[in-house]
Amino acid sequence: MSTVAPHLSVEKVAHSRLDELNGKVAFGKVFSDHMFVASYENGSWQEAKIVPYGRIEMAPSLSALHYGQAVFEGMKAYRNPAGEPLLFRPEANFQRINLSAERLCMPPISQEVFQEGLTELIRLDANWIPTGEGSLYIRPTYFASDEFIGLRPSESYKFFIISCPVGPYYSDPVKLIVTDKYVRACEGGTGAAKVAGNYAASLLADKEAKAQGYDNVIWLDAIHHKYIEECGTMNLAFVIDHVVVTPKLTGTILNGITRDSVLTLFRDMGVKVEERLVSIDEIAEAFDSGVLMEAFGMGTAATIAPISTINYQGRDLVLPSVSEYKYSRAVGEKLEDIKRAKCEDPYGWAVR
Ligand code: PMP
Repeated sequence: MSTVAPHLSVEKVAHSRLDELNGKVAFGKVFSDHMFVASYENGSWQEAKIVPYGRIEMAPSLSALHYGQAVFEGMKAYRNPAGEPLLFRPEANFQRINLSAERLCMPPISQEVFQEGLTELIRLDANWIPTGEGSLYIRPTYFASDEFIGLRPSESYKFFIISCPVGPYYSDPVKLIVTDKYVRACEGGTGAAKVAGNYAASLLADKEAKAQGYDNVIWLDAIHHKYIEECGTMNLAFVIDHVVVTPKLTGTILNGITRDSVLTLFRDMGVKVEERLVSIDEIAEAFDSGVLMEAFGMGTAATIAPISTINYQGRDLVLPSVSEYKYSRAVGEKLEDIKRAKCEDPYGWAVR
């Protein structure tokens, strides 16, 4: 397999659509002018190009549609105070997409293809990175492109990167409901990989949660239906009696880059952090005894999302002090400052 990036060709748009963008845009609806596309065929990366954002032609026999070999990433670009583009921990997304790919029997994306495609795309569409609070959400996507019906790993693949300017994913504190009817992942499954099918399998639970007035689902472990795993789009953490407690990485939850960053920042701020099994009963008991100080989600799209309500078996645990969350607010502000190079970044997370 070739790890050398093939020649990157660039076809620019004649007119940018950026002028048509006025004011706020809904998350994930308007895409920047260009996209990066690369093809894997005959054992190597063949073609890499940046072209105007547009349709990708596909055959009805496209293997990804039938057997689901499809993985993706979510990352963001920000501006530093001088207005220059910054990526947040892109290396971590590169590592993770290849872990996801490996789980689905897909060949690794070469570092050169990922890095060059990403860098050139963001350089070209840098004007699409919002100023102020917003950011440019970036979606690298990798899928099987054989035109073949029959169960085996595809031999050809496509990898593309698109991006869209976004504001926060959740504008208000979130209300979550624990499901013990469905499970998201089990040991040996694909829970730790960012595969498209995980999200398809979560939609019904999500739909039922929304019908009951909640924003999303809290998943429990598949065996005991007892230990908290994560939410549909974010990892979860709780502050119990001044200690940050978060479900440990058991192989069934996504190893979130925000989660890792937040835990690192908390530790460096001198806050005690515990990564361990966290049962929903423990959270209910902490709530009842008044020591559940905060609950929040962590994710690239969601950033730090304060949780106002957790429903478990028909009972709403309503966290009264959501507007006074100190720990998650402090870490969230620090993280935002690092992402936008507004403060020192001893970790080297914000990359020009
Ligand atoms: N869990 C799931 C299921 C997710 O989809 C995401 C978003 N990628 C996360 C957690 C958070 O991961 P990250 O911080 O890397 O965005």
